[in-house]
Amino acid sequence: MPALPFSDTPTEPTPSSPPAQERPPACPPLRWQRELADAVRDPEELCQMLSLDPALATDARRAAGDFSLLVPRGFVARMRPGDPHDPLLLQVLPRPAERTHVAGFSADPLEEKHALASPGLVQKYAGRVLLLATGGCAINCRYCFRREFPYAESGATQAGVEAALETVAADPTIHEVILSGGDPLLLDDDRLAKLVARLEAMPHVRRLRIHSRLPIVLPSRVTDELTAILSRTRLTCVVVVHANHPAELDSTVAAAIARLADARPILLNQAVLLTGVNDSADVLTQLSERLIDLGIVPYYLHLLDRVQGTAAFEVDERSALALHEQLRTTLPGYAVPRLAREVPGEPAKVWIG
Ligand SMILES: *Cc1c(COP(=O)(O)O)cnc(C)c1O
Ligand code: SF4
Repeated sequence: MPALPFSDTPTEPTPSSPPAQERPPACPPLRWQRELADAVRDPEELCQMLSLDPALATDARRAAGDFSLLVPRGFVARMRPGDPHDPLLLQVLPRPAERTHVAGFSADPLEEKHALASPGLVQKYAGRVLLLATGGCAINCRYCFRREFPYAESGATQAGVEAALETVAADPTIHEVILSGGDPLLLDDDRLAKLVARLEAMPHVRRLRIHSRLPIVLPSRVTDELTAILSRTRLTCVVVVHANHPAELDSTVAAAIARLADARPILLNQAVLLTGVNDSADVLTQLSERLIDLGIVPYYLHLLDRVQGTAAFEVDERSALALHEQLRTTLPGYAVPRLAREVPGEPAKVWIG
C-alpha cells in the first residue's frame, strides 16, 4: 500500500489559521494562501470598504452566530460600492433574518448524516460518492448547508479521508469520486496530488469530479501545479464551479478558468437559485451567456436546501419553474441549466419541470 498522503494532524486547518505549521519552513505560502489568510472577516471593515451604513455591520455581527463573515478581498472588489442590495454582498453579509426560525427549515434537511457510507464519505447515488475532503471554505455563503453541517463528526478530517479512501478502494461499483467539502481546493497542491494518486491506483475509479467555488471566489487558487495534476491523471476530470451571478465572473476568474482549461477537464457550473441574487430571467440568462463564453456548461440550477437560517433566500417552486421556462426561450438548449432539488431518499437529484 502506498504511504498515507496525509500527516496525522487530526483536524483541518481553518481559513483563519493558514496551514503554516504543516508546510516546510523553506516553502513560503503561495499567493492564494496569502489571499485566504488576508480575507475580510470583520463586518465593519467590509461596510467601510463598500461605503455602506455601519448599522449593517452591527446587524451582521449579531446575526452571524457561529458562521462568521468570511470573504476574500478579490470577491469584495466585484461588489458595487454603496449598494446594500448588491447580489454578491447579499451572499456573504449576515442579516438579522438568519436568526428567525422558519417552519420547514432544519439543521440537516437532506439527512446527510444518515447517508455517511463511512466517515468522510457520503453515498446517496449509484456509482458515485462524495468525499468530504475538508470542512473549510474560502468564503462563508449565507445560504449554505455548511452553516449547520457537523463536519467534525462526519469525518471531514485527515483520518476521515483515509477511512473514505479505504471504503472506495473496497467497492468496485464506485466509478466516480466527487471531491467535496467544504471546498476541496482548500487542500494544497501537494495533498491534492497525493489524494489523486491514491484514487488513480484504484482500477474501478474512472472519474474524478471536483466541486469547488474557489476558482470563482479565489481565482489565484488555480495554480499551474493544479492544472498539471489534472492534466497528468489517467482519470477523466470534471470540474464543477459554483457561480451564482454574472458579476462574479470577472477577468480574474476568466484567466483562472483559462488556466484550468489547459488540463481539458469537463467544465460545468452549478448555481443556487437565490432571492435577491439571481431570481430573474435576465440575470440567469446573463450568467449562462457568460459561463458559455468562458467554456463552462451550466449544469444545475438548484433550489435551495431548506437549511435553518436560509429562508430569506428561498424561491418557491412555481416561481422557479416560471423562470426556467423563460430561460428556455432566451438561451440555446445547452445553456439552460437543469432545475433540480435534492429530496432525501430519492435515487438521484429530482429534476423539476
Ligand atoms: C449531488 C450529489 C451527487 C452528484 O449528483 P449528480 O446528479 O451526479 O451531479 C453525488 N452524491 C451526493 C451525495 C450528492 O449530494
Ligand atoms: S460549500 Fe459552497 S456555498 Fe457553502 S460556504 Fe463553501 S463555497 Fe459557499
